[in-house]
Amino acid sequence: MTETQTHARLSVVVPCFNEEAVIRETHRHLVAALEKVPHLDFELVYVDDGSRDATLKHLRGLQRMDERVRVLALSRNFGHQIAVTAGLQSAAGDAVVIIDADLQDPPDVILEMIDRWRDGADVAYGIRTQREGETAFKRWTASAFYRLINRIADVAIPLDTGDFRLMDRKVVDAFLAMPERDRFVRGMVAWTGFRQEPVPYRRAARIAGETKYPFRKMLRFAIDGILSFSLVPLRLATYVGFFASILALSGIVYALALRILTDIWITGWTLLFIAIVFFGGVQLVLIGIMGEYLGRIYGEVKRRPLYLVKERLGFAPTGRDSR
Ligand code: UDP
Ligand code: MG
Repeated sequence: MTETQTHARLSVVVPCFNEEAVIRETHRHLVAALEKVPHLDFELVYVDDGSRDATLKHLRGLQRMDERVRVLALSRNFGHQIAVTAGLQSAAGDAVVIIDADLQDPPDVILEMIDRWRDGADVAYGIRTQREGETAFKRWTASAFYRLINRIADVAIPLDTGDFRLMDRKVVDAFLAMPERDRFVRGMVAWTGFRQEPVPYRRAARIAGETKYPFRKMLRFAIDGILSFSLVPLRLATYVGFFASILALSGIVYALALRILTDIWITGWTLLFIAIVFFGGVQLVLIGIMGEYLGRIYGEVKRRPLYLVKERLGFAPTGRDSR
């Protein structure tokens, strides 16, 4: 993008779930950061993901005061990744930024992402060099998760990267053309290819409010990510099956050899019982893994819409916004 061209249009997508404590402050920071960028028009697409507090009221207020604000209110809580997808679907910019509503992703980093984009990058993704205000447990589980998924996933998903990123229009369109329901956004964007560049930043602590990702949701998110990007868990059944067969075979050979070559009889049912229980357990676990994939296939074939919208404010009545 050269300086002589007309203004580039940037959309910033902000998923919000019960963020009444921070949302106005976030808006102020975003606007302050984006107004520093020369030759740029921007819109802020706030997606209210079925908040149960006053978030939507605040968003309506922001929209009345600032015509660059768009509000997309979903009919209930659909979850972070779906909220991000909804925002991308309604964003009109030549490039789109995804950023959390809690200022953990510093808005000034967007400026650097825009520079990368103007230098030709198609995706500029934030890499967390430090995480502040998060428990050692969260940092440790997050780091273990990124390393695991990288070992077994079919595409390379950058380490320590969240959804904070800038994407060129062509990447956004490629992303939106993927119809899947389990939307592991960072994996799907990595899958598209193109020119993707890291932008290191320090992840700050939340300025207010609480995390919407308690352990249970984090685990769900991790499982979603792994299952939608890897078939390794399914292959586990084959490996364990081979291992068990070899074990059983050596047991048979051993018992036979003892019987033929010595006068020792192997007796007792304890070992037998343990073996049955053990392999019963293993089989149930593996059936469970298959069930996880099957459940996802079931979800896909139902072909329900990803989300429903209850309110749209500030969007242009025509063009891509009316989709
Ligand atoms: N979020 C959302 N829907 C949800 C949960 C979270 O839109 O069901 C939003 C939330 O408002 C925030 C972002 O997703 O803007 C990240 O959530 P959070 O900060 O709670 O996660 P953490 O940073 O603790 O991982
Ligand atoms: Mg956060």
